[in-house]
Order: sequence, then C-alpha cells, then structure tokens
Amino acid sequence: MKINDILLIIVLLLFSFIPLAFINRSAAKIAVVSVNNEHYKTVSLDKDAVLTVKTKYGENIVKIENNTVAVESADCADKICVRSGKIENAGEVIACLPHRLLIEVKEDD
Ligand SMILES: [Zn+2]
Repeated sequence: MKINDILLIIVLLLFSFIPLAFINRSAAKIAVVSVNNEHYKTVSLDKDAVLTVKTKYGENIVKIENNTVAVESADCADKICVRSGKIENAGEVIACLPHRLLIEVKEDD
C-alpha cells in the first residue's frame, strides 16, 4: 500500500462518520408541555430532570429519564396520565384531562 492509499482510506473513514453524526443530531428530542392549550414549558429529553407542573387544575410530576418522558405522579382523579407510562418517539403524547395537561414529544429543530 502506498501512502496515498492510506490517506484515501482515512479520508473515506472520516466522511463515513458525518451522516451518523448528522442523524444523531437531528434525532434530539424535546417534550412540549402545555396546559389548557397554552405553552407551559419545553424540555430536552437528553437531560434527566424532574419537572413539577403545578397549575390551578392540579399538580403533575413529570420525569425525564434516559430520553423518555413520563408522568411519575399526579393528584388527578383518574391517573390516566400516570398509567400512560413512558413516551419517547416524536408524535407520542401523554394527556391529563382533569388537569388540562398535554405532553408531546417532538423532534428538536
Ligand atoms: Zn392525570
């Protein structure tokens, strides 16, 4: 192998990583929290966090963990939001109707 061949291989290897990095970047997700159809807060899913959504309708504890979002606990009557479990894909939603709360996963752009 000539030195040029080695250089060519290195260059090709470097280029092959670019699409991968691009895909990973565009796959970054956010959770958009809204209450009564009004924007409440937007959080990134790539950082674990606990968010307390306290409004006049009630309180929901929203947990972001390992790129997923879930309602950990709530003081609503039906607990449908808690039983919805974790969501992680763009387009998925968790709703808490008694609290007029909506959590939607979106692609970050
Ligand atoms: Zn609920």
